Amino acid sequence: MSEKSIGKYLGESIPKLGFGFMRLPRADGDSGGGGFGGFGAPPKFDMPQIEKMVDYFLDNGFTYFDTAFVYQGSEEAMREALVKRHPDRESYQIASKLNLMAIQNRSLEGLKQEFETTMERLGTPYLDFYLLHGLGGPSIASAEELGAWDYLKELKAAGKIRHAGLSFHGTPEELDELLTKHPEAEFVQLQINYLDWENPQVQSRRLYETARAHNTPITVMEPIKGGQLASEASVFGEALKRSAPDVSVASWALRYVASLDGLITILSGMSTYEQLVDNVKTFKNIQKLSGDDRKLLDAAVATINSVPSVPCTRCNYCSPNCPQKINIPALIGLYNDYLVYRSAEGISRSYGFMAMQGGKAKDCIACKTCEEHCPQHIEIADTIAKLSPLVD
Ligand code: SF4
Ligand code: SF4
Repeated sequence: MSEKSIGKYLGESIPKLGFGFMRLPRADGDSGGGGFGGFGAPPKFDMPQIEKMVDYFLDNGFTYFDTAFVYQGSEEAMREALVKRHPDRESYQIASKLNLMAIQNRSLEGLKQEFETTMERLGTPYLDFYLLHGLGGPSIASAEELGAWDYLKELKAAGKIRHAGLSFHGTPEELDELLTKHPEAEFVQLQINYLDWENPQVQSRRLYETARAHNTPITVMEPIKGGQLASEASVFGEALKRSAPDVSVASWALRYVASLDGLITILSGMSTYEQLVDNVKTFKNIQKLSGDDRKLLDAAVATINSVPSVPCTRCNYCSPNCPQKINIPALIGLYNDYLVYRSAEGISRSYGFMAMQGGKAKDCIACKTCEEHCPQHIEIADTIAKLSPLVD
């Protein structure tokens, strides 16, 4: 598909808000959506609230909805709240994602099955956007081996998808190589927010510049960093609130991203009707950042980076010695996030995924075996004891 055809989605100057179906409200009151994995029983969502959110979003002129095979229950929820209730299919766009890790048998057949399941779950005759999900590192080679790129071409030729792209978590060098090899990638979804812009691990700025150098339109994910840049209680939230009491802390993060060129849309994974209303308000009256605004966000980043943290290097010498199978560096990472964002809710979703795969914080028996192996001499048992009441 030529850039021209996808170019119609590029806003003249201000891009649009996209509705990410990743952190949907749940009926049991647990915020933060469903599980991650693609199989198993979907969680119980708060469907009346999701329907109200979808209607409000559409009524305000926004049209882009994003889901994925591995967001458990999300595709089905989109069918019920959007597809079934809004029959004018041409009036909005749906994006979903093909996850190479989710297929049972590592084969092209597995990919085809995954796509068919997505279509069944969504109940739609076509997808506007279909992405290879989370490419970066070894998954780039897997996509080649499995013939995933050719499969996308096939789907497009058959009219089952309208635009093919990828979401990306690798390095700028990998992205450059990939977009050079696959000019048919019509767009790329990147993690961009003001905190990760110069972060040496995420490298949002360099990824953005790489996509722009290839003239590849961008959809943005994690503009509020999983909700963390919305926290009023955070070490930076107070300063932002003082500067502009009438707007939310989240609106700063959205305006930062909305000030960039070349975007198709900015996805926000909204978990409540109130968050949606606030995001819609931000985009309805969107103001690009002024020079003073940027200075304030630079100060917020400096404040975040200056918060003392537990000096874990993630070497993982500790975990294999834990009798409780606790993923120690991951838990310490969450505790460090809490020190910055001061939001137990903000770390609960990641904790949920993590605790499914290993021991919980409350399982720690304070044997301190791990500490004998830690080159940083971290008081691991004490750190986990501080985290446990926040998450367990
Ligand atoms: S102190 Fe806790 S985390 Fe460390 S090895 Fe013992 S049980 Fe595992
Ligand atoms: S051994 Fe220490 S520094 Fe290494 S991952 Fe474990 S806690 Fe972190």
